Amino acid sequence: MSEDSWALSVDQQEAKAPALKHLNTKQKKTNSNVVPGDGEPGDEPGPADQSLLHKMIRRSLVRNRNEVEVLQRDPNSPLYSVKSFEDLRLKPELLNGVYSMGFNRPSRIQENALPMMLAQPPLNLIAQAQSGTGKTAAFSLAMLSHVDPANKWPQCLCISPTYELALQIGQVIEQMGKFCPDVELAYAIRGNRMERGTKLQQQIVIGTPGTVLDWCMKYKFIDPKKITMFVLDEADVMIATQGHRDQSFRIHRQLTKDCQMLLFSATFEESVWGFAKKVIPDPNIIRLKREEETLDTIKQYYVVCKEEEDKFTALCNLYGGITIAQAIIFCRTRKTAAWLTVNLMKEGHQVALLSGELAVEQRAAVIERYRNGKEKVLVTTNVCSRGIDVEQVSLVVNFDLPEDIDGNADNETYLHRIGRTGRFGKRGYAVSMVDSEHGMDILHQIETHFNRRIPKLDPSDPAEMEKEFNS
Ligand code: ADP
Repeated sequence: MSEDSWALSVDQQEAKAPALKHLNTKQKKTNSNVVPGDGEPGDEPGPADQSLLHKMIRRSLVRNRNEVEVLQRDPNSPLYSVKSFEDLRLKPELLNGVYSMGFNRPSRIQENALPMMLAQPPLNLIAQAQSGTGKTAAFSLAMLSHVDPANKWPQCLCISPTYELALQIGQVIEQMGKFCPDVELAYAIRGNRMERGTKLQQQIVIGTPGTVLDWCMKYKFIDPKKITMFVLDEADVMIATQGHRDQSFRIHRQLTKDCQMLLFSATFEESVWGFAKKVIPDPNIIRLKREEETLDTIKQYYVVCKEEEDKFTALCNLYGGITIAQAIIFCRTRKTAAWLTVNLMKEGHQVALLSGELAVEQRAAVIERYRNGKEKVLVTTNVCSRGIDVEQVSLVVNFDLPEDIDGNADNETYLHRIGRTGRFGKRGYAVSMVDSEHGMDILHQIETHFNRRIPKLDPSDPAEMEKEFNS
């Protein structure tokens, strides 16, 4: 399928317009709800935005060495897993598509999920693994492999919680299917208007629940009885919206009992599990537990400062004293982040600022520039405490220590923040600034929680800096 042979049936302009609208609404919302500079509200993006950001910035698989847990519906049936894409006996043009994406071998979750998704007779599947482990690639491949291109009607239906996430999946399918000229894809998303009486000819339809429901029931563009593979992606994000949850059930009820049902989720709380079991009858279950972040490759310190100005001096000394490839500095409020950015720039540093008022697309662009080394320092609030994998990050600074709403240490956030360094087997450093008794208390809580002593550092002492960092 050549890129432009995709019968998107979407006027590209129309498809773009809502994306811009999304951006504007977001900015407006931020401006009206948040007192400039107060920092806190909205700095952690919602689940859909978080997921989109991860997808936009990710370039490779997330490393996960855990064993995949497989729970088979029929324990007597053999458990297949594949070590190569050839083992799947894909159509050559699809195999070419997979290799053209630079995939050499199936990811951990794909090793088990792909044979199950391609099995005959079909098997239902619930698969849970953290973002970045290859779920989207897996079900995209399954859909492309499943369809019969000679049949000009929708056979695979995939629902995703948001317009932007649906487009992301579509891009993967387009890329992977680029050598399958007869397979076509349609987007059932807002803004994509169709003439009444149209019968979709594309074999794969991907969309958001509301529009998909309309296309199946109200307009009858899609005959749900002819759908033989149904994919529900990001179930955890889906159920965060009550409307989506109900729409998903309603779509599900239109499908036949022979339709193969696949559900994916990055997390697996009870609520997701309850939903999944309702949507997926007789499921096989695959789980890949998140690999715990480790502190082993990170040297942690704290620095005592009297006030914010002092913290800035300490930071400059730190910079002067050690060789830093790239650094991430976490601040509590947007105001501090902005102030720090300006002052670091005055000192001649190249600094990127990432904070909550940016739309997802803008955040992704900032992270991309930083990843490409355009800036050496990234100053941020909490927007990226998880998910940034930049190999060159050798220093993480907690300009402010993370606290929960009760004023206690937020250990999880601390771990995610400092886990931005020391990745890919490299040594990393994490330095926390403490400017009050309360801050000291938080630091002690962190030490106790992780059962590690965090030594004090004096960045104004060159000999000490030399000893700790450059030896
Ligand atoms: P998820 O849906 O679990 O978030 P994705 O399918 O989006 O994960 O994959 C995450 C990243 O890894 C993407 O950049 C994707 O292109 C890449 N990827 C997926 N499968 C493989 C593979 N088998 N080999 C190499 N890279 C892969």
